[in-house]
Amino acid sequence: MVEEGKNNADKQPDINEGNGSRSEDITTIEIAATISVRELADMLEVSAIDIIKQLMRNGIMANINQVIDYEVAAAIAAEFGYEAHPQPLTARRHPSVISEIKKQQLLSEESINLKPRPAVVTIMGHVDHGKTRLLDAIRQANVMDTETGGITQHIGAYQVEIDGKKITFLDTPGHEAFTAMRARGAQVTDITVLVVAADDGVMPQTKEAIDHARAAGVPIVVAINKIDKPDANPERAKQQLADAGLVVEEWGGDIVCVLTSAKSKTGISDLLENILLVAELENLRADPSQPAKGVVIEARMDKTKGPLATVLVHDGTLRLGDMVVTGSTWGRIKAMFNDTGKRIRKAKPSSPAVILGLHSIPQVGDAMTAVAGERQAKALVRDNQEQSQRESKVVSLTNLFDQISTGDVKELDIILKVDVQGSVEPIRASLEKLATDEVQVKTIHSGSGNVTESDVMLAVASKGLVLAFNTKIEAGAQKLAEAEGIDIRSYKVIYDLVGDIEKALKGMLTPEFVDVVEGRAEVRVVFQGAKHSKIAGVYVNEGKVSRGASVRVRRNDQVVLESSVISLRRFKDDVREVAAGYECGVGIKDYNDIRVSDVLEFFRKEKAG
Ligand code: GDP
Repeated sequence: MVEEGKNNADKQPDINEGNGSRSEDITTIEIAATISVRELADMLEVSAIDIIKQLMRNGIMANINQVIDYEVAAAIAAEFGYEAHPQPLTARRHPSVISEIKKQQLLSEESINLKPRPAVVTIMGHVDHGKTRLLDAIRQANVMDTETGGITQHIGAYQVEIDGKKITFLDTPGHEAFTAMRARGAQVTDITVLVVAADDGVMPQTKEAIDHARAAGVPIVVAINKIDKPDANPERAKQQLADAGLVVEEWGGDIVCVLTSAKSKTGISDLLENILLVAELENLRADPSQPAKGVVIEARMDKTKGPLATVLVHDGTLRLGDMVVTGSTWGRIKAMFNDTGKRIRKAKPSSPAVILGLHSIPQVGDAMTAVAGERQAKALVRDNQEQSQRESKVVSLTNLFDQISTGDVKELDIILKVDVQGSVEPIRASLEKLATDEVQVKTIHSGSGNVTESDVMLAVASKGLVLAFNTKIEAGAQKLAEAEGIDIRSYKVIYDLVGDIEKALKGMLTPEFVDVVEGRAEVRVVFQGAKHSKIAGVYVNEGKVSRGASVRVRRNDQVVLESSVISLRRFKDDVREVAAGYECGVGIKDYNDIRVSDVLEFFRKEKAG
């Protein structure tokens, strides 16, 4: 029974069975007076998660860097089939540079009063796989505060307590919200729960969610949900997850996977315990003695109370009466509520709190900082405003080389959308080969289908660019890309796509020109001009018209012509420009078919990037 005990937590030898007779079969090891969890795991050749689980079974909560003493380590080693002996004092411990660094970190952490803080969790997954219902099930089973009769409020996040430890859930599920926050510069999530319906398996948005979590470097816990369904097939889901790069623990990988049914509420506490476990590994810390720092996760105007914002405190403690700045607004906290609607006087790290007292409504994703007083608040608001005016640097192919040269870009992150899945691999492989000493080329997300808003958001959050191969760009995605300055490039030939990236990396790409619309006008009357030409009598609805500008003629929403403005008159005078709200006569080069009700769109070509 003992011979296979090594490396296998499930087949633990009965340590009470022998009385020394097993010494030949058992591996003996020497353990120093103190050892970190990570070192012990290395020594026993098991994963750190297994050690932490075993410690938990023995009532010890430890994270990967925690140092445990000989007695505890020896007991754990025995449970994995090892016989431990104290290391002689003269023997040097197996040197581990990493653990030394970590130990020093721990020491310095202690000196600045860092304490463990709850994990902040976002639930992601394909539509209809049960994200919302799972959030509800978790909440119903574990609401911390029942004083308010279980009346829970939607404030954007809630906390549950299990085994005396808290977990904060953001209750806007989905990777879109997650990445939108990141795009605003706020990464609040520590752990992602990826929900996969056992009957449906891995679907396109499951893969998208995996890529979004990975791009953010956030660990994933898998919940295979709907296991109550007759056609549930968790094993198939695990296989598909492995194909997508997530290998679950029982298959030798490092992904924690839990079976759940949000409907029958099974597996919920197992899920929560595993989240706690991953949180331990993440070693999440904050210093509650500091002034609060956090982020706005919801904001709205209340008719009677005024501007309300839900903030999630990352670090420090937020207190009633604190002066806080959130983006471009500020105020003193007049009242504060928790997720069950209860009035609170303080909110600790990783807690959500609804605050009252801001002068106006902040934006979701705005950073919140507690400051000493009004003067500091106003100064910080000014800084924030200046900073938001300084455009966040986005990567574009035409300025890529400059950004590499100045060291601003060390990794080119690409979001690749293609017509058929089969095109992904050859393009990805060719792109990744273009890496140079200065810059890595990484496809952070790929898939078949149109370019969506979520792709563009990911590009914003990761400062990447979007390549569309034989596929369309959805209207919303195009608009968002324009607003955020994201470069979307469309190609029909792989050679051109790869060639462009190669040229861009070498700074050899000739700039593309983009159209910047300057104004729009509506044709109200048509005059006869000189030599059979026609003059459009227009009313300028928006922007301006200038002589020499390029012009597009739209009729019934179709572009019928692109040309330029050769003459511009107000009354009898030639003018250079006419602004919105005025009428004028426009002559269009080489065109005499202008009609009443046509719309003229004036634009200028500008160098992109
Ligand atoms: P979301 O789009 O991922 O948020 O999915 P929802 O939570 O809205 O769930 C989609 C549908 O699946 C709803 O009809 C849920 O009632 C149902 N559902 C969710 N979880 C389970 C489950 O564990 N078992 C079963 N049978 N149905 C579930």
